[in-house]
Amino acid sequence: MGISNNIKLITTSIPKHVKLVAVSKTKPISDILEAYNAGQRKFGENKIQELVEKHEALPKDIEWHMIGHLQRNKVKYMASFVDLIHGVDSLKTLKEINKQGAKNNRVLNCLLQLKIAKEDTKFGLSFKDVEAILISEEFKQLSNVNIQGLMGMASFTEDETVIRTEFKTLKKYFNTLKKHNSTNFNPTIISMGMSGDYQIAIEEGSTMVRVGSAIFGTRNYN
Ligand SMILES: *Cc1c(COP(=O)(O)O)cnc(C)c1O
Repeated sequence: MGISNNIKLITTSIPKHVKLVAVSKTKPISDILEAYNAGQRKFGENKIQELVEKHEALPKDIEWHMIGHLQRNKVKYMASFVDLIHGVDSLKTLKEINKQGAKNNRVLNCLLQLKIAKEDTKFGLSFKDVEAILISEEFKQLSNVNIQGLMGMASFTEDETVIRTEFKTLKKYFNTLKKHNSTNFNPTIISMGMSGDYQIAIEEGSTMVRVGSAIFGTRNYN
């Protein structure tokens, strides 16, 4: 029982090549420290303000992942320390990330978020959008961003077949896009899988899972 046990159980049950991002959004510092003391170093947040506050309060060897939908005007607050930005869904946002990366003398690692679910509520680019970005001259100029791969979220459904099909689609897109490899597009990461579906995601080729409630328990939003 408990957070540290959950970390150990999940870490030992997933293959070595799959990275675990512990999604700590809404959870207190004490919960994150418990996971940290169990050896967890990658944490994910979806709100920039919360990300910044937790980064300031916690040990500096934590790797912070921004997994939420990005507000362009807030990229500047995390540019000095963020390790990976998962939810990039426009060239405009990439340009802002590039600008803030340059100001901080850093190359900021990003994933492009694809819309693989049928639900309208999910953000993300289409395959065509992604290809258009990757082959554009504008993108090639962005020397302070490094796109390391793709991120996607499956539909919120009990139907395993639907979830599996959506993950397969992301993996297929990833394989197809590899040919656009360039100085700032180095695809090695497929970020897919959450508490309810990370086992399926791994079977379908995920290399990074974002797990919240299965580690920290259910969230209370006020
Ligand atoms: C909240 C969140 C997760 C984790 O969800 P759980 O179901 O609690 O594991 C993963 N990815 C994103 C983008 C999220 O917003």
